[in-house]
Amino acid sequence: MTENTQGSNTRFVHAGQEFEPVTGAVVPPLHFSSTYAQEAIGKLRNGYEYGRGTNPTRDSLQAQLAGAEFGKHAFSFSSGLAAEDSLIRAILRPGDHIVLGNDAYGGTFRLIDRVLGAWGIGNTPVDMSDEQALTAAIEKNKAKLVWVETPSNPMMKITDISRVAQIAHAAGALLVVDNTFASPFLQQPLTHGADIVVHSTTKYIGGHSDVVGGAIIVNDDELAEKIGFIQFAVGAVSGPMDAFLTTRGLKTLGVRMRTHSENAAQVAAWLRERKEVERVLYPGFADHAGHEIAKKQMSGFGGMVSVQFAGGEAAARKIAESTKLFTLAESLGGIESLMNYPSEMTHASVKGTELAVPVNLLRLSVGIEDTADLIDDLERAFTAL
Ligand SMILES: *Cc1c(COP(=O)(O)O)cnc(C)c1O
Repeated sequence: MTENTQGSNTRFVHAGQEFEPVTGAVVPPLHFSSTYAQEAIGKLRNGYEYGRGTNPTRDSLQAQLAGAEFGKHAFSFSSGLAAEDSLIRAILRPGDHIVLGNDAYGGTFRLIDRVLGAWGIGNTPVDMSDEQALTAAIEKNKAKLVWVETPSNPMMKITDISRVAQIAHAAGALLVVDNTFASPFLQQPLTHGADIVVHSTTKYIGGHSDVVGGAIIVNDDELAEKIGFIQFAVGAVSGPMDAFLTTRGLKTLGVRMRTHSENAAQVAAWLRERKEVERVLYPGFADHAGHEIAKKQMSGFGGMVSVQFAGGEAAARKIAESTKLFTLAESLGGIESLMNYPSEMTHASVKGTELAVPVNLLRLSVGIEDTADLIDDLERAFTAL
């Protein structure tokens, strides 16, 4: 049960997680069945008919996700990009246009530009902090959708959600916020005026690097009906085991995010003192361009830190290949610390475009290990420079 007054941690643990009525099992059972016995032709038991349409384990996750984002409807998918694709196809038509941040996640840009572009969806990347450019891009293209990531991946830029919502709404566009980096523990975009939240639940929500998934959360009933139709008609749904693992991860999001945030603050501060480091991108620093907005719309600064090296590409590559606790790998948001070289890894698909990532930049997903051990690991890696 979720009540309006309940806080985030209570929602993560309880939303959609009622005990099973026959046995009292506190953890709702995992339902693998792909189909459901009907009492008579077309007479369904509690609406359950076929696994692509509905599954109790997925329903339980969807209720938990809606609760976590303080939203009314949630839909879970087999990946973050499957969620994004279903969302865009649910609400746009050929000829429609998307204005997105010019530092959006490379996979999101690839989907919008190279896949959906071929089906007649236009896009314009803009600097979301430039209100004039944003307004002009929406109006000129009669954009139906504005797409924001805050903090952004991997440049850690912060966008003022309520301000961009006002601008989008004034021009008749809907605002989508990709809330993957902040997680619903630190930021709830629907409460700041966003119309739609998307997640790669692969990251902080799953939290243990053992499941790939995505989600869409909305308040509006009409939008929900359109998204639900595509989820059912296209079928990029999460399987029962994936839904179960994601639910288990989401229950502990609050305690994990607190440790991720504390560790990242210390790692960022340590990095900033090093002479080999040109710049640390971390919204928790008082002199970060988005610090005041981050303080206003987030309840912490999260576990992601990006760092640029004075020694350029060679130094970034050397560090990426010299750490032991920080594992060189794509993805983020798991309990173990990861290091990623975006320009050749997560963001290789935007190389040579306006969205390209600097070649001297490493992205750190700071895990929940002991802070001193993480700093020791970095200290030892820096001796390789
Ligand atoms: C990983 C990621 C995605 C894509 O999600 P997948 O689960 O990998 O499909 C979208 N947005 C952001 C910010 C991400 O980090």
